[in-house]
Amino acid sequence: MSRPAVVTRFAPSPTGFLHIGGARTALFNYLYAKKHGGQFKLRIEDTDKARSTPEATQAILDGLDWMGLPHDGDVVYQSQNAPAHIEAAMSMVETGRAYRCYLSPEDQEAQRAAAREAGHAFRSPWRELGPADYPDSADYVIRFKVPEGETVITDAVQGKITWNNKEFDDLVLLRADGSPVYMLAVVVDDHNMDVTHVIRGDDHLINSGRQTLIYRALGWDVPQFAHVPLIHGPDGKKLSKRHGALGAEAYRDDGYIPSGLRNYLMKLGWSHGDQEIFTDAQAAEAFDLPGIVKSAARLDFEKMAYVNGKHIEMSDNADLLARAQPFLRAETPDGYTSEAEARVLAAMEDLKPRAKTLKELAQQAFYLTRPRPVPMPAKAKKILSEEALNRLSELQISLEALQDTQWQSEPLQACLTDFAARHGVGFGKIGQPLRMALTGGAPSPDLSVVLTRLGKAETLARIGDVLSAT
Ligand code: GLU
Repeated sequence: MSRPAVVTRFAPSPTGFLHIGGARTALFNYLYAKKHGGQFKLRIEDTDKARSTPEATQAILDGLDWMGLPHDGDVVYQSQNAPAHIEAAMSMVETGRAYRCYLSPEDQEAQRAAAREAGHAFRSPWRELGPADYPDSADYVIRFKVPEGETVITDAVQGKITWNNKEFDDLVLLRADGSPVYMLAVVVDDHNMDVTHVIRGDDHLINSGRQTLIYRALGWDVPQFAHVPLIHGPDGKKLSKRHGALGAEAYRDDGYIPSGLRNYLMKLGWSHGDQEIFTDAQAAEAFDLPGIVKSAARLDFEKMAYVNGKHIEMSDNADLLARAQPFLRAETPDGYTSEAEARVLAAMEDLKPRAKTLKELAQQAFYLTRPRPVPMPAKAKKILSEEALNRLSELQISLEALQDTQWQSEPLQACLTDFAARHGVGFGKIGQPLRMALTGGAPSPDLSVVLTRLGKAETLARIGDVLSAT
């Protein structure tokens, strides 16, 4: 089977939830692979056993699943690839690109500090020694032999970057216990996973210099790097808890929908003319690396909500209802019925433009989902005066007389206007108590829409409840 021309990967360390920055990195890798008909792979970088937890791995898998970023093939667990990492290190020893270093940890630290002081990178004296010099029994590490010269990469975002190799320490590849270090593992895994493009946060930029040296030493092709500036808070400072929700699941719980969050994150640090709103197909078509902005992106929660609102409007009604269920239930804990659910679905087109999140959608739908008798707020007493109730009871008769086919916005509006005229009062004298009786003060659209969406039976029953309560 021929290899796909583009293979990207997301390689999170499982030390916490799926961070908003990680979600964007995953998204960029996903979109780039999709655009080129390639593959998007997932590798869990769990070599640091002390910091990695199965819960964090699960949170990342769940987060990606919720975000709608499916990966190709099986999940790769870095810790399971140690034999390949060791083999690569040993092959570099054989070709003279790496060496055994017998310095004790203390000596190594002292020499590294001295090198720093002298303004150059650390080189172990063991780099020039060979088997004849090896002590019989002593611990050693396998160290990379940084070559002379320069290392150059052409990053798809940052452009050409040149390092003098004198800046790089002879880094450890295998520790004294034989375990591989992270820097080696990343290179070997990316190579073995056929990764062609490494798109990741620019906090890894310096690593790409070190990793390039390892690729070259192994005689492997170096992938195309693209280092994306990190996301900052709205105040321009590095993102921290202080800025509010950081994990994808927090946005889910706030009522963001995956397509909305994907759209927002795609545009966060990537520009494409004036276009803000993208369908998934448009996103996969438009996304490219040159559009990635070189400066740090700032989170803008207002914009996030705006984009999400647009995606709520574009959503299929039944899908939206399914996603909104937990929020609808939470809004009406004491009895979210199947009738209420049907009313919400029927009203979806009115609800969509009134909500930027599913939480708001559930709040806007509350007038439809409230179980009877609708509890009345304190201010209802004034609005539902004796005079108002008398009128409501007459209105109930007029409404009851309407045919089912007349139970639509226009005829209902005409009925209400007509009723007000017949009683010689302004529309408000009817509208206000009727709205209170039907909604209990919950947010609601035009009265004729409220009546239509509640339906005849529920409307009459809610009016009846208020009349019989007095
Ligand atoms: N595991 C690293 C992280 O979570 C990413 C490494 C990479 O993308 O090369 O920051």
